[in-house]
Amino acid sequence: MHLPRGICKFVHNLLLFSGLIVLFIAVLCTNLFTVMGVGAMGMALIALSYGFTALFWRCPNCKKRLPWHENGEQVTVCPHCSHKLK
Ligand SMILES: [Zn+2]
Repeated sequence: MHLPRGICKFVHNLLLFSGLIVLFIAVLCTNLFTVMGVGAMGMALIALSYGFTALFWRCPNCKKRLPWHENGEQVTVCPHCSHKLK
């Protein structure tokens, strides 16, 4: 399954950002178990954001995973099949 770059980026940033906020909240907690619990949730959100991109940021033509950046620039052409990406 392939999602457009804009949606991938939006969901990725959203999950990453909420994960960071949750981690920040965890740091503010005083109870050790709360810190660990909320902290784990934040880590899970961050992991999810990367998992989401890995799953859905694929070439629509050959379905292979695409790198997010190449030589510091966003990929515009699939490195596997040279399909032009929108
Ligand atoms: Zn391709």
